[in-house]
Amino acid sequence: MIKDFQKVFPNHFKLPKRIQRLGELAYNLWWVWNPGGLRLYPTLDRRLWEKVEHNPIAFLHQVDPQKLKEAANDRYFLEEYDRVMAEFDKYMEGKDTWFKQQYPELENRQIAYFSFEFGLHESMPFYAGGLGILAGDHLKEASDLGIPIVGVGFIYKQGYFVQKITEDGWQETSYYHFNFEEMPIIALTDKNGKPLTVSVELPGRTVSARIWMLQVGRVPLYLLDSSIPQNQANDRHLTSRLYSSDLEIRISQEMLLGMGGVRALRQLGYQPDLWHMNEGHSAFLTIENVRELIAGGMSFEDAADKLRSTNIFTTHTPVPAGNDQFPIWLIDKFFPSYWEEMHLTRDQFIDLGKQTQSWGETFSMPVLALHLSERCNAVSELHGEVARDMWNFLWPDREAKDVPIQSITNGVHMSFWLARRIRLLFDRYLGMDWMDHMDDPDLWTRVEQIPDLELWDVKRHLKRKLINYAIENARNHWQSGKRAASQVLVDGVMLDQYSLTIGFARRFATYKRADLLFSDYERLLRLINDQDRPVQIILAGKAHPADEPGKLIIQKVYRMAKDPRSAGRIVFLEDYDLNIARLLVQGVDVWLNTPRRPNEASGTSGMKAAINGTLNFSVLDGWWREGFNGSNGWAIGNDTDYDDPNKQDEIDAASLYDTLENQIIPLYYQTRSMGDASTQWIAKIKENMRSLSWQFNTRRMVKEYMTKMYLPAFNENGKQEE
Ligand SMILES: *Cc1c(COP(=O)(O)O)cnc(C)c1O
Repeated sequence: MIKDFQKVFPNHFKLPKRIQRLGELAYNLWWVWNPGGLRLYPTLDRRLWEKVEHNPIAFLHQVDPQKLKEAANDRYFLEEYDRVMAEFDKYMEGKDTWFKQQYPELENRQIAYFSFEFGLHESMPFYAGGLGILAGDHLKEASDLGIPIVGVGFIYKQGYFVQKITEDGWQETSYYHFNFEEMPIIALTDKNGKPLTVSVELPGRTVSARIWMLQVGRVPLYLLDSSIPQNQANDRHLTSRLYSSDLEIRISQEMLLGMGGVRALRQLGYQPDLWHMNEGHSAFLTIENVRELIAGGMSFEDAADKLRSTNIFTTHTPVPAGNDQFPIWLIDKFFPSYWEEMHLTRDQFIDLGKQTQSWGETFSMPVLALHLSERCNAVSELHGEVARDMWNFLWPDREAKDVPIQSITNGVHMSFWLARRIRLLFDRYLGMDWMDHMDDPDLWTRVEQIPDLELWDVKRHLKRKLINYAIENARNHWQSGKRAASQVLVDGVMLDQYSLTIGFARRFATYKRADLLFSDYERLLRLINDQDRPVQIILAGKAHPADEPGKLIIQKVYRMAKDPRSAGRIVFLEDYDLNIARLLVQGVDVWLNTPRRPNEASGTSGMKAAINGTLNFSVLDGWWREGFNGSNGWAIGNDTDYDDPNKQDEIDAASLYDTLENQIIPLYYQTRSMGDASTQWIAKIKENMRSLSWQFNTRRMVKEYMTKMYLPAFNENGKQEE
């Protein structure tokens, strides 16, 4: 099916022949979610592995050749190496995947999955937050299940930003400048060795982008990159950063993603049957597809009808800033030639995305996607209700409950997010093949069989690992000579492994209310400084560089962390990323989430916590409204929303403090029958795993996409006879 193109690996490592395939493995992200793959590189040189931020390509360039030579002669290393490579080969062969067993008749079908960001691993920071991580987890899971999917997105030369906090708590941003040669991306060229590119017409010029490929297990992900010489200087920066606030850049990016993405797939020889838009950023793909059909002689109506049945749209947020819209003058500037080709008038074209706001009309990307997708979904049950309400105006003759937006609750990729030690416990007590049944609730009744002390040992180990990370980090900051002593304190040097530890990490958008826990500072101080029952709080998260209120919240919290009265028990970890997320969700005791309802469409970090035996303490918003059963964690507030946000904040804060003081702290420090472990706490961890782990993983989620969205769409679109 694929046309003539070549894959060129930018690196040729000098590796001993016997372990040569370490280089090959570095170019397939399979290693990031398989324990064997994860162990192979660090075994060679753990310190270097940390230094290169878990990037195997940088690692193989820098590792001491002597160490490689020794490994190539070390019987134990070789045994592990051979085992991992055999596992990798077997996986890539993909003989009897779930998909092949369930849907043999769909073997030659193809789904295209478009997303503005993909969060796959900390060594590739091309994501801003949950949306990207979800997209990354979706691809990993589709690979595991054998679903024929292909991803399309951007590779950003500067990624999202690096966060530094000043002594006064102010967030400063700087940018990476990635060396693409140290990324596991594969260059695509034509037969003559010329880089493959696609181009898109923008006002007064044509912009081109190079196509790179990232192998995510069995799934290829194609990434566009405009930093090439044939573009004008400005256009070379089009794919430099995520989420520019400049709308002209933004619309150009989205045209490149949607239209350029379709063209890239065509050029590579793909004929996708289905088009899945992860959020509205890629919705211009519908325009490109309509245009193609019209060029082939169809009317606009027929083309739109045909495409509607092949398009799938997932909306991810009720927050206005998350729903892209453009002023009409920008559409007038960018789209005249396109609406001509589509045989539409200007007004007909604008109607495709028109949304009327109090300040006038805009062109909304989600509206475009909703108009042109037969199958749409929100990302939790509550978000489904909110989304049906929110987009009801597009179906004026229907009641909100009949608006065609279903819900498929998010999940997390188990094997990527689960701590290795917990996985080993599951291997032992759930059965060696538990991974094949992770979405079966019956399997999880077996967590009862895990001995309390073994589980507690693992949790303690994970907390120590987190604390060690914080302390090492603090040491490096201190040693750099650029850090005030008080900041090193905020880095976490006074953390202690026996204290109840609460984690809170997410984007510092105001609706997430990171400061709710700090709203009654005096009460908080009394709680955390109790000599017999101390509590420590670890926070992390970035505010969007243009979000001043978000940065002010960081500052407020940071100042409290520096305050001697909080005694080093409030800690802020700089530059939140996938690595810190993993350490936190695995290492803390309680995972706190305080969004203002109903703005958190789903949330996924709490799911990462849950599967690792970290208890959720959260507002009944997003996924937690479905997950909470009264005994597997704690709720903040209740199932009502207040019109007055201040009132809601007040009620939620009171509920938060009361529950913390009267339930969570006493339970954690309850009479210790076994050393320092509270049996009732451990019982709660088990209840949490039993009731949540099967449900909030991407295995359940992607299967649900298969049965609710992909399968009906495939059935409606029988494969054309060739
Ligand atoms: C999981 C994750 C998120 C999303 O978490 P929410 O619960 O949706 O806030 C954001 N950033 C990182 C680095 C993550 O790992």
